[in-house]
Amino acid sequence: MNIYECFVCGDPQESKTCDRCRNGIRGDLLQLPELYVHLTMSRQRVQGGSDGRSGKRLHAPLPGRDDVLNLLGPASRQPVTDAEDQTGATPFLEVLASWCEAVTDERGLNPVRKHVSTLTARLTAHLGWICEQPWVADFQEEIRELVKATQRITMTQLQTRRQHKAGVRCPSCEEMSLWRHFPGDWAAECLNCPAVKLDQRDYEDLVKAQARDAHDAVKS
Ligand SMILES: [Zn+2]
Ligand SMILES: [Zn+2]
Repeated sequence: MNIYECFVCGDPQESKTCDRCRNGIRGDLLQLPELYVHLTMSRQRVQGGSDGRSGKRLHAPLPGRDDVLNLLGPASRQPVTDAEDQTGATPFLEVLASWCEAVTDERGLNPVRKHVSTLTARLTAHLGWICEQPWVADFQEEIRELVKATQRITMTQLQTRRQHKAGVRCPSCEEMSLWRHFPGDWAAECLNCPAVKLDQRDYEDLVKAQARDAHDAVKS
């Protein structure tokens, strides 16, 4: 049996990337669609000014719309497997799209649509293969940075380990008033609407629907 040093953390392992690092990457990828929705809403908020309803929401001031727009905006980018160092923040979808392109090219797959759900689904589906590539450490670092940069902007970092504000709107009152509980009977509940209690599947469907809307909002 071969013993490798984990490509990401350097621990001695039977696989090229250890289980802990692989699970960490998977966890980051799973968060991305929701973070993207929240990021898009941050952009709408900073661009839209007061829309009558936003005044009622208790949001801390955003760090600045440049952060949001840079992360959402289109920008040219070197292929990720080139050694070139990136300067400035790379837009959210560009990070995912360029890694997807590497997977698509090297594995001879059909290209996927440049949509947050589709891109993360492809990367997650090929994570086992990605974890055997020498560039997995770069991949891990960029995905981690993307999660952290988006969390900084959207302030969706876990407020405690046990509960945090969801990154999507309540389907009933449309406020950012959904909370997630770990562990709990429900995946998410609305603070305003006693009837809104979502199980994990409903919650994931809500994230998917709002990710689709967010994608369309950025394109238009
Ligand atoms: Zn590791
Ligand atoms: Zn509600």
